[in-house]
Amino acid sequence: MRHPVIAANWKMHGNQTLVKEWFAAFQKQDIDSANLEVVVCPPFPYLQQAKNAVMSGVSVKIGAQDVSDETKGAYTGQVSANMLTDNGCEYVIIGHSERRAINGETDALIAKKVLRALEAGLTPILCVGETLEQRQQNQTEQVVATQLLAVLETLTNEQVQAIIVAYEPVWAIGTGLAATAEQAQAVHAFLRQEVLKRNKKQGEMLRIIYGGSVKPENALELLAMPDIDGALVGGASLDAASFAQIVQAAK
Ligand code: PEP
Repeated sequence: MRHPVIAANWKMHGNQTLVKEWFAAFQKQDIDSANLEVVVCPPFPYLQQAKNAVMSGVSVKIGAQDVSDETKGAYTGQVSANMLTDNGCEYVIIGHSERRAINGETDALIAKKVLRALEAGLTPILCVGETLEQRQQNQTEQVVATQLLAVLETLTNEQVQAIIVAYEPVWAIGTGLAATAEQAQAVHAFLRQEVLKRNKKQGEMLRIIYGGSVKPENALELLAMPDIDGALVGGASLDAASFAQIVQAAK
């Protein structure tokens, strides 16, 4: 039994007012999140404020959008995994395509970040996905397998069981053009098969969530697919009511 995960990636959006209003609005939706993991990933400066909202009764978990591959020291501007747990985080998005493309993050760096997160007790949400050009050249499977295996190779069996994978086709992120449920299912099934080949139980238990223009209108169809175990939601997650509808679709 794989519990669905619905995670909100706010990216570099929001301010204190948005955090306050978002949590108040989400709570009003009165979502039953039993057997579901609902995660909200605001920018670093708002983690504490989000955590306070959780403490006052909003039933979500808090995640960050990135983490350092180092534990501490002279790394100006970086945030360590222990700092995240110290501020109430339980999850962290790692290897988002925006960080791969804009910040030049490599598979090796991403693998180190996943390790640091696991060592600190965080659940990493590892993002993989192909660009439009790679899809057009039939390289999707090769690209996502390389991204996934680069990380899995560095982990123990126990650690593999503690991660969540997000399949996020780059061409679907922020474009309004989501993968069809069939396109997404095909890649999710392929990724699961890659893990099953290494270890049957791990493959069966690994949660693989889909990200890329998920909205209330397409969530039900995507989440009904057998290998889609949840969603990573960008744009639509900034609106608490829309995000709540997506969460509801996972029930
Ligand atoms: C994301 O950035 O992880 C994402 C899925 O964005 P969007 O939902 O806006 O496509």
